[in-house]
Amino acid sequence: MRLILLGPPGAGKGTQAQRIVEKHGIPQLSTGDMLRAAVSAGTEVGKQAKAVMDAGKLVSDDIVNAIVSERIDQADCANGFILDGYPRTLVQADSVEAMLSAKGIELSVVIELRVEDEILVGRVSGRYTCAQCGAGYHDENLKPKVEGVCDKCGSTHFKRRADDNPETVRTRLQAYYKDTSPLIGYYHAKGKLKSIDGMADIDKVTADIEAILASI
Ligand code: ADP
Ligand code: ZN
Repeated sequence: MRLILLGPPGAGKGTQAQRIVEKHGIPQLSTGDMLRAAVSAGTEVGKQAKAVMDAGKLVSDDIVNAIVSERIDQADCANGFILDGYPRTLVQADSVEAMLSAKGIELSVVIELRVEDEILVGRVSGRYTCAQCGAGYHDENLKPKVEGVCDKCGSTHFKRRADDNPETVRTRLQAYYKDTSPLIGYYHAKGKLKSIDGMADIDKVTADIEAILASI
C-alpha cells in the first residue's frame, strides 16, 4: 500500500498518517526527517544535502527525490509507505512517478483531505506535538487525556512550530494553492485520486480513509 496524503497545512495529514502507521505498520516518510537521517547516516545524497544546507541553501528537488528513493529501498517500506508533505509541486510529482516506475512499483492511491481555509487557520494555530514521541495534539480539538501529559509516551514536554501562527498559515496556504493544489488534477487524471471531507471529526476521517484503503 503506497499512498500520498494530500491537502493544505492543517488538513489532518500528520494526524491521519500516525493512525495509518499504527494500524498498518507501514512507515510515514517525512522529507524533513529523511533529510536529517540521510545527513547523519552519511549516505551519498546525505553528503550532498549537507553541503547545500551548510551553505544555507534550499535542498534541490533532485536531492530530495534521491533521498526519498533511498528511503523507499529500505526493508521497512517493502509493504508500502505513506508520503505526507511530498511531492509538493508538479515537478516533484513527475519525479516521484519516474522514481517509482524505475523501481517497478506504483502509487496505490492519493487521498486528498478537503478543509476550508478558516478552519485550517484555527487548526494550525492550535496545534502542538509531544517533544519526545511526536504525537500530535490541538488546544481544543485533540487534548491529551491528562492535561500536560502525552497519551502515548507520558512525556510532559511539548513543542509548537514557529511557523504555526495565523499570519504564516495564510502565506503557507497561498503557496499550497499555487504550487501544490495542481496535484489534485494531476492525480485525478491518473485515476489515483480519492477526495474526502477533512472537516469531519478525526475518527470519521480515519474511517473514510480505512474504507478507501480496504477498497484498493
Ligand atoms: P497537517 O499534517 O495536514 O498539516 P495536522 O494533522 O497537523 O495537519 O492537523 C492540524 C491540527 O488539526 C492538529 O492539531 C490536529 O490535532 C487537528 N486536527 C486534525 N484533524 C482534525 C479533524 N478532523 N478535526 C479537528 N481537528 C483536527
Ligand atoms: Zn509523547
